Amino acid sequence: MDLGEGLRQAIAKLSRSTIIDAKTIREFCKELQKILLNADVEVGLVFQFTKEIEEKALKSKPPAGLAPHDYITNIVYEELIKLMGSTYEPELKPHKVLLMGLYGSGKTTTAAKLAKFYQNRGMSAALICCDVIRPAAYEQLETLAKQANVTFFGIKGDKDAAKIARLGLEKLKDRQVIICDTSGRSALDGELIEELKRVNNSFKPDEKVLVISADTGQVAGKQAREFDSAVKINGVIVTKMDGSGKGGGALSAANAAKARTLFMGIGEKLNDFEPYDADKFIGGLLGVPDIASLVEHVQSAISEANIKPEEVDLEKLNFETFYTQLKALNKMGPLKNIFGMMGAPDVPKELLEQSEEKLNKYKVMIASMTKRERNDARLLNDASRIRRIAKGSGVSEKDVRSLISDFNKMKRSFNTLKNDRNLKRFLSKM
Ligand code: GDP
Ligand code: MG
Repeated sequence: MDLGEGLRQAIAKLSRSTIIDAKTIREFCKELQKILLNADVEVGLVFQFTKEIEEKALKSKPPAGLAPHDYITNIVYEELIKLMGSTYEPELKPHKVLLMGLYGSGKTTTAAKLAKFYQNRGMSAALICCDVIRPAAYEQLETLAKQANVTFFGIKGDKDAAKIARLGLEKLKDRQVIICDTSGRSALDGELIEELKRVNNSFKPDEKVLVISADTGQVAGKQAREFDSAVKINGVIVTKMDGSGKGGGALSAANAAKARTLFMGIGEKLNDFEPYDADKFIGGLLGVPDIASLVEHVQSAISEANIKPEEVDLEKLNFETFYTQLKALNKMGPLKNIFGMMGAPDVPKELLEQSEEKLNKYKVMIASMTKRERNDARLLNDASRIRRIAKGSGVSEKDVRSLISDFNKMKRSFNTLKNDRNLKRFLSKM
């Protein structure tokens, strides 16, 4: 089971519990620990992660009207952001990047991907080969540079990486983004540290980036800290995300070294590369592609929890008032007939005779909408929103569509009746 699947199942299971109390939350956290450890996140980070989730979940109750699934997802999301970091937005300004990492981590491929990334965005990019260990390193990077259509610099056969970096900089001074690929080792030993320090001194990078493969396992954090104490890293690029459902170690490596995750490699081709987008990535893990609107929704529910009923404008029909109105209409037996008498026979009878069960379903679905959605039904002409609401409230997409259709029917009836003075007089008497 991969990380995302595990998280989604644990959240779904917790959301199904009838009561969410200290015991269920502790069990949930135990399950999260298992999932994260299994995905190779470091033990220390795992415990920190679940401790904060437990504290948050126990400290505050979900606000009334908020689906437990949304509430819990939001808490887990916030903690995953802390663990894996927030979105990286690459700046398009001239800079120099030093890439480091062990053998096979994907440094050379990443160097070319990164150069291509900036070149595609209108910046002139160049690659320097400072891998003086691996036999065909020069040819590999030269070929990739051609594919990426960026400038290449290297000195074949020369073993002095610091000198190559220095000469490369002189040669490439008109390039806006210069990326330096370095030698790897099977482990970070004294020799590699010395070489990296010397290259660092002559290249003077703006960013020192550790390239780490998603299949590195639990040792990823330790590895990141070691590189950090040797040469101080600012960022991590996680490669081979396409091949590993685990990746937790590599994804939390930046956190372990107090750096940030910058990019992700998602395949062997030069275009299989993207900046790390927390919402997209973590939303994907949690099975909520539109996580931003879920977060917005939870936050507004928390602040709305303090709004008093009299502050709600019942004149204005939106999803927020729909449920109240529908419930009221159902209680007012005689009103059903009034609609017909008032010359609005098109008020669908079934709208006025909803079962308690269906009304409750509506309530939960409305609770899963964002504040904007509740105020503007037009936003719900969007399949991905419908999907999200269905998921958040544990109903089918068909159920959500039926709610929207009922809402629209009611809205139409209200519009017809809005200006009817007789009806108004009658309603005010009631
Ligand atoms: P280096 O030793 O750190 O320079 O690693 P290389 O760049 O030579 O890459 C080692 C292997 O990993 C190569 O076969 C690459 O094609 C492969 N590789 C690199 N990045 C990715 C990635 O994001 N996804 C996949 N599937 N393979 C990758
Ligand atoms: Mg290499």
